[in-house]
Amino acid sequence: MSDEKFDIPEELASATLPTLLTAESTIRFRCHKGISCFNDCCRAADITLAPYDVLRLQRRLGMNSEQFLKNHTVPFQLERDGVPGIKLRTDDEGACLFLDPENGCTVYEDRPTVCRYYPVGLLALRRKDSNVAEQQYSLVVEEHCKGHEEDRELTVAEYRKEQGVEEYDEFNREWYELILKKRSGGPGVGKPNEMSLQLFFMASFNFDMFRKFVLSDNFKRTYDLPQQTYDELEQNDEALIKFGYRFMRQVLFAEMTIPEQKDAWDRRVQERKAVWQARAEAEIARRNAEMEKAMREETLGEDCNTDSCGDRD
Ligand code: SF4
Ligand code: SF4
Repeated sequence: MSDEKFDIPEELASATLPTLLTAESTIRFRCHKGISCFNDCCRAADITLAPYDVLRLQRRLGMNSEQFLKNHTVPFQLERDGVPGIKLRTDDEGACLFLDPENGCTVYEDRPTVCRYYPVGLLALRRKDSNVAEQQYSLVVEEHCKGHEEDRELTVAEYRKEQGVEEYDEFNREWYELILKKRSGGPGVGKPNEMSLQLFFMASFNFDMFRKFVLSDNFKRTYDLPQQTYDELEQNDEALIKFGYRFMRQVLFAEMTIPEQKDAWDRRVQERKAVWQARAEAEIARRNAEMEKAMREETLGEDCNTDSCGDRD
């Protein structure tokens, strides 16, 4: 199964563009259990996961985020600046671990967005004068897939509805926009530091850890949010995902999407000062000890490579 999810051309005029479809375009396709190629696509699975995919699958499997990420995903780089992404883990032959050879997908009701869309490719496009992603589609025609030979025509909009992608797109859309903005933002957007990349990963995929992070005293001391928001983030996974997108815009693009406490900046400076002072004092103590050792060796001819050196007055 091809993964078209992040095939995001920088400009509509690109010579490499596939034929674009809109929601009103008609496709000919049908997939069903009796078809000769049943399961072929899942035997060569290359499935990039978006945040809502992870939430649905971890719920389905009754796992926390850590368990799901460890057991069912592999990391990869979403774009050139090292923005981290994840794909579904497969077996050594490339088959999806959720595939049952007899009955097909064992997580069908919660299958990821890419599986739902196939053979339609979702293209998040951006017009030259806009930062807002605009959804268009392409048709992926692979030789092994016999669904294109079936006698059924429907529009892309009807196919999306049938496959239940609308809900997935609603919860993932802002995340696609973030990737798009990062990818096409040019040098002005800059390369995120290691801490920003880790925060991006946590907010995108590790929801249990992200929830602990936003409910921590440290977070509340830094950001100015009403208690009602914290209550919602504690209880509602979907709200947590959407809040994560707000947070990532702040982390990746320095947009002030979450108001800070009035004294947050001063407090950070004070905390930094305390850290710098502690480091400076430790460095001075280290240098003093080295000087003392060197003086002893010089004046007393002591061999200070023994444990007893420095015990003497
Ligand atoms: S999640 Fe289901 S539909 Fe998607 S590749 Fe795996 S078995 Fe196939
Ligand atoms: S028709 Fe296409 S999508 Fe359906 S099982 Fe066959 S290869 Fe997979």
